[in-house]
Amino acid sequence: MKTTRCVQEKLDLFRACFSGLPHIYGTYDPPSGDVRQVKRPVTDRVFLDHLQGRTPYGVYLLFGDQTRAVVADFDADDPSPPLAFLNRARQLQIEAYLEKSKHKGWHVWVFLALPGVTAAKARVVMRRILGEAGAVKTEIFPKQDRLNSRNRFGNFINAPLYGTLVPQGRTIFVNPTTLKPYPDQWELLAGVQRVLEPQLEQIIVQCEIGSPSSCPAVPVNAGPFRTFGLAPCAQRMLSEGVTANQRVACFRLAVHLKKAGVPSDIARASLGAWAMKNRPEDGKRVLTANEVAEQVEAAYVKDYRGCGCEDPAVRPFCDCACALYRHNNAEDAHAHSVAAPAHASLATDVASP
Ligand code: SF4
Repeated sequence: MKTTRCVQEKLDLFRACFSGLPHIYGTYDPPSGDVRQVKRPVTDRVFLDHLQGRTPYGVYLLFGDQTRAVVADFDADDPSPPLAFLNRARQLQIEAYLEKSKHKGWHVWVFLALPGVTAAKARVVMRRILGEAGAVKTEIFPKQDRLNSRNRFGNFINAPLYGTLVPQGRTIFVNPTTLKPYPDQWELLAGVQRVLEPQLEQIIVQCEIGSPSSCPAVPVNAGPFRTFGLAPCAQRMLSEGVTANQRVACFRLAVHLKKAGVPSDIARASLGAWAMKNRPEDGKRVLTANEVAEQVEAAYVKDYRGCGCEDPAVRPFCDCACALYRHNNAEDAHAHSVAAPAHASLATDVASP
């Protein structure tokens, strides 16, 4: 029997399962299949247009280095490889969900604890399961471990439940035993089991997968800067340059340099050279020497010591190898482990597959 759910409950449920970057999404033209990126907020209207079959919605799963889901994209119609994946995942206490994709093949979704877990850990576990299921070449979304200044969005994957394809048995979750669609897709989504980050860590240790390559082990008890001199984010910003938020990035770098004991005149000269390697977007110019000097002065004149870890100018450069990151996330992991999924009991009629 189908549960009755109001439209808003369905939209909230859809967002809890299929959201990532909040200001951009992907779509395609159904007749031609041409894909494009839409730089607009991911609103309920976007979801409604998708669920009612007007405009398909594709989710950019990766935000920073976090994701709320990982997906294995099986591009052949043979269900054996995705079913082998589901079986192996279940042995590891991971519940995975099988979606018949829009034209050909299958998507296997693994939902992760809200508000998100470290993508590198989820991806490395997915890769291991795919290998054991004999499907090592299967693509994983998100395709990267984190966003950075060169890859600011990652790749989108089409969300399930596109209105016009649902009646054709496409973009719909199926029972792995019968390969028939679940009669109430919303009931399924309301009850998805989400994988916690400590679970992934346990699997990584138990299966001797080793640390994800992007998360090299750092010595326990190391201060955030003892190993590197500067925090990893500062090292990366300095070496790569930035494409956005130049002033804030400059200020944050100046704070890092001050904390590392660099005199202000050396910081000014270093950041002046750094500014020249920036590649500002939208036709903006690089910072002038005076603008750099202003930021350095602001950083040195007061007792600023924060790393700006949550600052949008810094976050894309964050590295989970940083001891401060581990310290912060150890506290978050504890908080999340006791938090229930935010949208666990909702109901519908939008596109009701
Ligand atoms: S946690 Fe990330 S942003 Fe914060 S200091 Fe470390 S590398 Fe930088």
